[in-house]
Amino acid sequence: MSEKHLKFFKDLNQFYDVNYWRPPGKISKSVEFIISPEDKPAFTKDAEHLGIYLVTIMDNVQRAFDGQTVRSYVRRKMEQFDWRSYFKTIDIYKWLFDLGNEYPQEVYLESIGKTLENRDIIAVRILLGTGKRRPKVIVEGGIHAREWISPAFVTYMINQILHAPKSNNTALKEIAYAYEWYFVPILNPDGYEITHTSDRLWRKNSRGVDLNRNFGIAFGTVGVSFSSWDSSYCGDHAFSERESSSMASFVRSKSEDLEYYLAFHSYGQYMIIPYTFTKKHLENYEEVYAMGKKAALRIADKHGTGYTVGTAYDTVGYLTSGVSGCWVKKTFKVPYVMTFELRDEGYYGFALPPADILPTCEETMDGVLSLLSPTQRKLSQAKGGQGHNILDRLVTAWNIVLFIFVRYG
Ligand SMILES: [Zn+2]
Repeated sequence: MSEKHLKFFKDLNQFYDVNYWRPPGKISKSVEFIISPEDKPAFTKDAEHLGIYLVTIMDNVQRAFDGQTVRSYVRRKMEQFDWRSYFKTIDIYKWLFDLGNEYPQEVYLESIGKTLENRDIIAVRILLGTGKRRPKVIVEGGIHAREWISPAFVTYMINQILHAPKSNNTALKEIAYAYEWYFVPILNPDGYEITHTSDRLWRKNSRGVDLNRNFGIAFGTVGVSFSSWDSSYCGDHAFSERESSSMASFVRSKSEDLEYYLAFHSYGQYMIIPYTFTKKHLENYEEVYAMGKKAALRIADKHGTGYTVGTAYDTVGYLTSGVSGCWVKKTFKVPYVMTFELRDEGYYGFALPPADILPTCEETMDGVLSLLSPTQRKLSQAKGGQGHNILDRLVTAWNIVLFIFVRYG
């Protein structure tokens, strides 16, 4: 594998109908993308000419997407909401409203902002019991529209924390009472809607901005595009988007005693530690790394799923900028910031089957409990020491789609 190969993959969009699932990064990492069947023969020929090793992961991605059942939810039928199907924003919100009605003491819902298409971005606060002030945790989901497992996990986590008082899981109980909880299950509801109605692989908001490149940290410097058709278009300035600016104001309003900021994405099975724009291990990296490794063991204990822990460069293999968690950590000196890339490692990718939702949620919850365990935290030390794609729009027309995986030697 050489720089020549890397360039070939970076330029694929110019020659073929492709949609990247794992974009080209450093030389040692694989590249994953889907390509239309019409383009496959020419692409394969070109790749072979360059001596590139190809593996077809899935020969019909559409079939896998068709298997991702989406159910609807009827108000006040709370037993109908589960983690065996995916749900659209409207149904997730209905369920959240029902939780608010059912648990008026513990659950508080608020809209932290409106999207361009006039959807509310809803935040859920859960506070169990009464009395002393507690450190805060903010959980972000659904910033990238096509990563459906992310809102699914965040709703699972809401349900777990809320029902912890009745649980016989003592670790869950202890942690649920130890914090003041804030959840934003769907930060990008307009984009999420697009993935349900017109383009299953849409990643950005409805204006075409990658919201997780739009935060004000190292904005526009690395791993982004200034072309609006690109899947990592960062916008023309930091916080140009309603979703990112609403989230920033919300986090600022909760920044006192904010100890954890967790963001959920897919896929790849990584726990990513700030900062994404540098290869260096900064601030309390070593402490968070040790916590992440322990959490990875807990995750593996549940269903055998393997996680890798490190910076973006160490894990996914590329640098990037304008990322929410990095901005939060830097701006508010939040000690524990982690971005999860949930299941899988690339077989189904964004087409994760419904049967995987519940096991993914279970194992991730175990990992999160480990990360949030009070015995893990050494706050005194941590605090003191801190010093494109236009083709995206056409996906529904791709009845048979090939999913190509390239492993570099
Ligand atoms: Zn993502």
